[in-house]
Amino acid sequence: MPELPEVEITARRLDVALRGATIESAQAPGINALKTFDPPLSALEGRAITSVGRRGKQFVITFTGDLALLVHLMSAGRLQLYDKRAGPRDRTSRLLLRIADPDHPARELRLREFGTKQAAWVKLLPSDAIDDEELIATLGPEAWPQPPEDLRARLKAPRPLHTLLRDQRAIAGIGRSWVDEILWTARLSPFKRGNDLSGDEALALREAIASVLDGAIEHYETVIALPIPDKLPLPLLVHRRTGEPCPRCGATIEAVHYEDYVMCYCPAEQTAGKVLKDRRLSRLLK
Ligand SMILES: [Zn+2]
Repeated sequence: MPELPEVEITARRLDVALRGATIESAQAPGINALKTFDPPLSALEGRAITSVGRRGKQFVITFTGDLALLVHLMSAGRLQLYDKRAGPRDRTSRLLLRIADPDHPARELRLREFGTKQAAWVKLLPSDAIDDEELIATLGPEAWPQPPEDLRARLKAPRPLHTLLRDQRAIAGIGRSWVDEILWTARLSPFKRGNDLSGDEALALREAIASVLDGAIEHYETVIALPIPDKLPLPLLVHRRTGEPCPRCGATIEAVHYEDYVMCYCPAEQTAGKVLKDRRLSRLLK
């Protein structure tokens, strides 16, 4: 799933390309990803895009006349701009915004979704209603550019850091990929409980959040141009690198496999040499 750095670079590129552009038509093909009905999607026709931005891992696109689209990619959605319209056999598109632009006559902003699940969704709302949407109203402070000063207090719960840092109500923007990089950078165990975090550890974690997300966005600034590719080249050092040497100390990166994701860490630096139980293996051996 795209996380804060991926959504941030996408929003930046789309904002530059689309700010001021007029919507020719708006459609939500197939199973309707649109979760609101008033105003109708057709209300966007003739309006201009005033900004493409981000809140946590969600996009917010604003339009003249005080309308806004809240776009949730869920696990497999992408927001992409094309200079060619989707064909009639396209099955990935959940939302199509056709742009009236004489310089780009076939320009189209698409919410696409890969895989079998249809989970990505869109809400069309008055701009001032965005903050009242439950998803937005319950978001914690943004993880970037300044992670919350009260990070230690926010994570003070008897749950593992790997879970707490992905809780969007505690801190917004971090998911399964970047959490591994952040905990590795801070040399903290993914299973350390939030309420066991010392002041120094919380400080290291805060610095790691800022530097890791900053590094990712800077990387994307140099390599990502329109059209946004289906798969972004995530500059990951630890996540999905099971069995490879740790780039800092050379120990073998270990992993814990969950049903639909994998958590990676360096045992030498994060868990005092302890290799955590691989839940997939232990399930197979039952
Ligand atoms: Zn290491």
